[in-house]
Amino acid sequence: MTEMTVRRAFVPSPNIAQLKESATIAVSARAKALRAAGRRVIDLGAGEPDFDTPEFIRRAAQRAIDAGATRYTATEGILPLREAIATLANADYRGDDRVTPGDIVVSTGSKQSLFNACFVLFGPGDEVLIPTPSWTSYYEMVALARAEPVPVLGDPANGLKVTAAALAAAATPATKGVMLNSPCNPTGAVYDRAELESILALAEERGWWVISDEIYRRIAYAGVATSILEVASSRDRVILVDGVAKAYAMTGWRIGWAIAPRAVAQAMGALQSHSTSNAAAVSQHAAVAALTDRGAAEPSIAHMVGEFERRRDAALAMLAGEPGIGVIPPDGAFYLFLDVSGTRGNSRNGAGAAFAQHLLERHDVAVVPGAAFYTPDWVRLSYAAPLDQVVTGVQRTVAAFREMKS
Ligand code: PLP
Repeated sequence: MTEMTVRRAFVPSPNIAQLKESATIAVSARAKALRAAGRRVIDLGAGEPDFDTPEFIRRAAQRAIDAGATRYTATEGILPLREAIATLANADYRGDDRVTPGDIVVSTGSKQSLFNACFVLFGPGDEVLIPTPSWTSYYEMVALARAEPVPVLGDPANGLKVTAAALAAAATPATKGVMLNSPCNPTGAVYDRAELESILALAEERGWWVISDEIYRRIAYAGVATSILEVASSRDRVILVDGVAKAYAMTGWRIGWAIAPRAVAQAMGALQSHSTSNAAAVSQHAAVAALTDRGAAEPSIAHMVGEFERRRDAALAMLAGEPGIGVIPPDGAFYLFLDVSGTRGNSRNGAGAAFAQHLLERHDVAVVPGAAFYTPDWVRLSYAAPLDQVVTGVQRTVAAFREMKS
């Protein structure tokens, strides 16, 4: 008797039916492939600092390994780390319900904290407002929770930031929450105190959850950006998400956290206990050093932010000579968001995708198409690269724009 192998096609589960590949990862992969083929590609697509983790943090990790930090920890993270997070948060927060370690869940990057929050707060039938443009994963995370992401376009005259009025106009009775991100990826825009206050007031009035992603908070050029905790009088509906990845150049260590009302924190911990359990033990100890040794941490942050600022200024000076390219002068993070709607290229994914493809294939510069952020006529250029590469990358961006100008 002959045996026949029946090959069945993979039919994805409804859980991931809406899932799109991360466009930021797709560009990096294409840039890597071109590099592997011998091309000298300048990668301005990356979303991570090009600095090493400061030495005092690396040493702390080495000591922790030698001291036995090699085992599981509590799902929600080691107590000294949650204490350090609570101490820093309470320096910002003036409300009566002080942040305690029990309100905190440490995760494998702030990305997991955001996912945990979306998954425990939102579900079928819920709508979640996403100020747009926004980091690509917000839309996907909300969809993975089977809720509806509702993009709310920001005002181009105000750094593409949204107002409370714009959020109110997009809301329906099904609206359950709003995702904030200041400084913003991809625009670098920073919400000031008054802007955050009015959004928070609206959310309180409507009973929405506010998820505030503050991963770029320390990378801001006019001083530390305002935290939602500085303007909130109560934490009842607020989930703050942060991590060490960007400010401490620790992307690969994968440590983020959420600060939430106790019941929400417990739900997130329970969810995480069935997925990844605790974040890597040694990384948690490294994060303790990052957050507690302020004498070492502050100068390294200041140095990095100073470098980003120099690069930003150099790039902006060059772009000022090319008025056809719209640019939002960033007040934080390390991205320049460029309006390339004045180009004639087109693709299924908008003018930004056609421009990014031209720039990569003809000029060996990788940037991210704006479609990844629900704004298809834009591209995101990261200046988390050495100054000479940023300068050459922007020169080539301008050259590509001239070639494609309509
Ligand atoms: N939030 C935003 C807005 C980001 O841009 C990123 C990373 O690019 C993250 C969160 C994820 O950071 P982490 O490395 O802590 O998971």
